Amino acid sequence: MPIALEAGSTRLETKPDVPYLHSPEALEDLLGDQPPYRADQLRTWLYKTPVLDVVAMTSLPKDLRARIGDSLWPFQVESEQRGDSGTTIKWLFRAPDGAAYEAVLMGYPKRTTLCISSQAGCALGCTFCATGQFGFERHLEAGEIVAQVAYARAFLREIGIPGSPRRLTNVVFMGMGEPLANYARVREALRRMIEVMGMSARAITVSTVGVVPGIRRLTEEPWPVYLAISLHAADDELRTSLVPINKRYPLADLESAAMGYFERKGRRISIEWTMMDGVNDGDDQAEKLARIAERMGAHVNLIALNPTPLTAESASPRARIDAFADLLASRDVNVTVRDTRGRDIDAACGQLRVIAGNKPVSG
Ligand code: SAH
Ligand code: SF4
Repeated sequence: MPIALEAGSTRLETKPDVPYLHSPEALEDLLGDQPPYRADQLRTWLYKTPVLDVVAMTSLPKDLRARIGDSLWPFQVESEQRGDSGTTIKWLFRAPDGAAYEAVLMGYPKRTTLCISSQAGCALGCTFCATGQFGFERHLEAGEIVAQVAYARAFLREIGIPGSPRRLTNVVFMGMGEPLANYARVREALRRMIEVMGMSARAITVSTVGVVPGIRRLTEEPWPVYLAISLHAADDELRTSLVPINKRYPLADLESAAMGYFERKGRRISIEWTMMDGVNDGDDQAEKLARIAERMGAHVNLIALNPTPLTAESASPRARIDAFADLLASRDVNVTVRDTRGRDIDAACGQLRVIAGNKPVSG
């Protein structure tokens, strides 16, 4: 099966002086002739108290601010759309080489959650996912991943979402791409978020379709981030038909890797299950899923399929989702039916898809 995992093009033709594309520990090199404490000041602006515009970096001298100029971010914000009465914001970022990726910020009364991308596109081709239908463009650099987080933090500090905290409380890798197929860069992004920005590992969820070697590597990392497994089917035949990479990493391997993670980190795994009418929403799947969830001690999140332009499957009716949830609950499985945010701006889970070269209308 020709699946691009770690390999793949990384033709990042960006200006070399974009600070987020440098390791936070190597900003001295970027600043050249500046006194050493300037690197500390810049690091603070980038990772501790991010600002939308370099002009606001008031402790830096004017000439240095001018030098950074419009290359503060490794992307242009091509559009910003608001949905759910202004509580959901979707950004479309465009890199200098033309690669495009999206992030979605969701405001709630007591928390704010940012859904970030780890790749432009995705090579894994799950049938029901708009990103998968679009194909793979390239991996995102660590700095491009972490800049999405910094941008949202700056946005919340400076502009904010009415009725929500002014700080970012959660980050989920549920945007475009498969994070564990871009392991080294995602790892470096996690390191910067946790060790440089100071985010709690508990505030971060890595969602994977089941790249088993990636789960095993993540198990060895020092950070107890939450792990979400996008399962969608509880037997190999059905799963392979929806999630092609299941052929390479079948359910038994996936379950054992996830269990290994749970045992090492003590963080409960969550199983994501997109409900598709007549496909994976029957009682037989619920029974099999209950057994898997029970063995893994996992929490199950059910989410109605979000419509995408090319999906053949349709969403399960609400009554079926409730019956499926009831059956799981009757087997003592912890289950939640997830609300869908961002549907009105195509920003819900699985809907992110950028038409390359096409400039979307901002709204
Ligand atoms: N590649 C990773 C993370 C990005 S996808 C993964 O697959 O887990 C984020 C989540 O969106 C996954 O749980 C995925 O199964 C789900 N998803 C994909 N397409 C969807 C759709 N059309 N409707 C609802 N959820 C979808
Ligand atoms: Fe890729 Fe995840 Fe979409 Fe599958 S669901 S195609 S792994 S982004």
